[in-house]
Amino acid sequence: MKRKGQVVAHIDLDYFFAQIEELRNPGIADKPVVVCVYSGRTEDSGVVSSANYIARRYGVKAGIPIVRAKALLKGTDAVFLPMRRDEYAQISEQVMEILREFADVVEVESIDEASLDISSRVGDDYSKAMELGSEIKRRIRELLGLKCTIGIACNKVVAKIAADVAKPDGLRIVKPEETSSFLAELPVEKLPGVGEKLRTKLAELGVKTIGDLAQLSMDKLHQLVGEKTATYLKLAARGEYYEPVAERRERKQISRIITLKQNTRDVEEIMRQLSTPINDVLTKAESMGVSFSGVGIIAISTNLRIITRSKTLNEPVDRQLLMDTVRHLFNALLNEQPSLMLRRAGVRLFDLKPASRQTSLTFFQ
Ligand SMILES: [Mg+2]
Repeated sequence: MKRKGQVVAHIDLDYFFAQIEELRNPGIADKPVVVCVYSGRTEDSGVVSSANYIARRYGVKAGIPIVRAKALLKGTDAVFLPMRRDEYAQISEQVMEILREFADVVEVESIDEASLDISSRVGDDYSKAMELGSEIKRRIRELLGLKCTIGIACNKVVAKIAADVAKPDGLRIVKPEETSSFLAELPVEKLPGVGEKLRTKLAELGVKTIGDLAQLSMDKLHQLVGEKTATYLKLAARGEYYEPVAERRERKQISRIITLKQNTRDVEEIMRQLSTPINDVLTKAESMGVSFSGVGIIAISTNLRIITRSKTLNEPVDRQLLMDTVRHLFNALLNEQPSLMLRRAGVRLFDLKPASRQTSLTFFQ
């Protein structure tokens, strides 16, 4: 299982849902912000889904009842908002697309986390990895306005832990030779897979840190958990769990976003500036061997509102039809919203299907 020279970056968007709400309404960023899933039974029934760092200082965290969060934040000017999962999912897709420019393989772990195999981009040069990590942070901040934390290490588990300890807005590199000392002193529950139940059982055996777990005999560990989990825990605690980064699902879209040279609502100007990104997505589709029938646009307003529009065509799309559809979608959006001024713009291809040779050739006719 050991793979030498593997370099993995783990990206975790900071307090993702609450951060999006702050971005949408900067006036709330200096207040406790709590994003909730309301069950609808009574006005306050439901649970907290995400909280910003100000709310966390009061003990508010994901999973606690809304009623409890309200009690903890009593007397503050806390803002409680309903979760808007569709919008968060759209923004998440855009983040993942940006990440794909920096790695050959991107494993989307959840709506706000991903692992990237960056081995081929940096070799085993961790100073290059550091630069790449900074560049990813800068790009996500520049294009979407979002902060994230990145951990970089020799495998997925160590990279995830590195990101966890570096939150928020952090970048932590753990070089291969630093792995054991980095893990040794951390509380054992920092290891992915060690929940509250296992933590308690391990504590009874005197196992408090990841270093302690690495020393525990396999027999004792085996008595606590099944063989598969015991093997994972043992390797993970030693920093030697080298599961490869793997795409978990088929790629559903290809997109590119750019920052416009100046804020504008001139469709022809937007089209001119989108000409390179449009070539990029077509080249990408070509290299993936896919055709597409879905075309979308991404518009980011001067106050960082993200608006998307899309159209599904009932035929494989060539370059001309793509241009026409993108132009049409921007025209429709800007007509519909007369005061909308764009800061960034993007294009998105979806409904990807394996291409026949014929279709892929028509891209560049
Ligand atoms: Mg997160």
